[in-house]
Amino acid sequence: MQMNKHPMPVQEPDIRITNVEEVALGYTPETAIEEAKRCLNCKHKPCIGGCPVNIHIPDFIAKVAEGDFEGAYRIISLTSSLPAICGRVCPQESQCESKCVRGIKGEPVAIGRLERFVADYMREKGEGKPEKPQPNGHKVAVVGAGPAGLSAAGDLAGMGYEVTVFEALHTPGGVLMYGIPEFRLPKAIVQHEISKLKDLGVEFVTNFVVGRSETIEELMNEGYEAVFVGSGAGLPNFMNLPGEELKGVFSANEFLTRFNLMKAYREDSPTPIHHPKKTVVVGGGNVAMDAARCARRLGSEVYIVYRRSLEELPARKEEVEHAMEEGIIFKLLNNPVAVHGDENGCVNAVECIEMELGEPDASGRRRPIAKEGSSFMIDADCMIMAIGTSPNPLIRSTTEGLETNRKGCLIVDENEMTTREGIYAGGDAVTGAATVISAMGAGKKAAAAIDKALLKDA
Ligand code: FAD
Ligand code: SF4
Repeated sequence: MQMNKHPMPVQEPDIRITNVEEVALGYTPETAIEEAKRCLNCKHKPCIGGCPVNIHIPDFIAKVAEGDFEGAYRIISLTSSLPAICGRVCPQESQCESKCVRGIKGEPVAIGRLERFVADYMREKGEGKPEKPQPNGHKVAVVGAGPAGLSAAGDLAGMGYEVTVFEALHTPGGVLMYGIPEFRLPKAIVQHEISKLKDLGVEFVTNFVVGRSETIEELMNEGYEAVFVGSGAGLPNFMNLPGEELKGVFSANEFLTRFNLMKAYREDSPTPIHHPKKTVVVGGGNVAMDAARCARRLGSEVYIVYRRSLEELPARKEEVEHAMEEGIIFKLLNNPVAVHGDENGCVNAVECIEMELGEPDASGRRRPIAKEGSSFMIDADCMIMAIGTSPNPLIRSTTEGLETNRKGCLIVDENEMTTREGIYAGGDAVTGAATVISAMGAGKKAAAAIDKALLKDA
């Protein structure tokens, strides 16, 4: 029996930096069956405990091993509504695959790759439209069309609720559309998942900023009996460095939105984007990797400046490896201290300082400490800040009774209900920047709680 996962075929690095097509190409049916046969169908199924939505992993893998891909899809669909997305972007290495018994001697079963294969197989085959359930006469509003809102909307619509999703941007999908690049998550796949929700009867109202276009209060007065807030954490953090206001300094959110949602890399796009020669990306998470890899595809030389070491780098391992293969230079144990500009107010260098790791801090990670007298310059005409985001205060400041913690995240109870009855919340708006699957899990949990509360009152 093979000790390692069947490798994922990928586009070669020197080719892929010249396009935005997907890097990972997916398993063939034959490879998927062979990989599925590596599963031991363990009695205690530890992998399921590592999945935030508890997908029946060994059962779906057993179906793949038999070549029954439709059967596998039915099993995944019992608990997950976005498998083609999760199969691509979930951090399986720290979730289901980290618990896989096969990983003790060798590599775990490639659960994520198999999930992706099954979802892609069904999409390409044409899944058929879902049957619309009988309406139950209740109306629910969802704020935000990211993974939290989409999964809440899908579950509620499946139970017969009339669901309207109000989305601030012109396209639903949240970070799946504006943040995660096409080369990791093709946008046609996200829109396919959204079209399935439309088939179920979910209505999407775009260009609608809740708190500006209408408040939650007003929506409730219009007959929405419950509201789910899945508005994410899209407000970028900055470091307040001298020179951060110079032209050529961007938040990762702005840079990625231009690149992904507005397709500014295309010559015919109405949205402009800076085509940098040398870019410094600050941060070490998935957002930093995505921003760096987008800048690379615009033809830039790219540096990632991260204040801790490779060991603490929070981005997915696969993304880090892909970024390194694409020629992105990692300046680890370094931190920016100032941005320098030319006479036109444009960035021309980023001043950095070397760091060393001290004792662990409150997060359990070793605290980075600046090394005195170690500052140096990186010539650059672009700097992208990817050091985290916070929830936008608009909703909490326009809705009475919504309490937040000191980071501005909405406080919810064990049923995802906020401090205001009838208003539920989940995803990054509650946890701060987290993962697609945790946002989806929260949306599902809230949908079940809303159903229980509204049917109790019926
Ligand atoms: P979001 O996806 O942020 O969606 C919120 C939606 O609400 C947005 O569409 C927004 O426009 C809308 N909205 C906000 N305010 C309002 C309002 N007032 N009225 C109406 N609509 C509003 N996670 C992973 O698991 N794997 C990854 O590889 C990964 N990579 C990432 C890469 C990037 C660049 C980023 C930014 C994040 C990444 N994440 C990744 C994190 C993941 O995408 C998020 O945790 C997840 O999208 C959170 O989902 P959400 O539904 O809570 O919020
Ligand atoms: Fe299969 Fe790994 Fe789960 Fe065991 S832990 S059932 S080998 S996927």
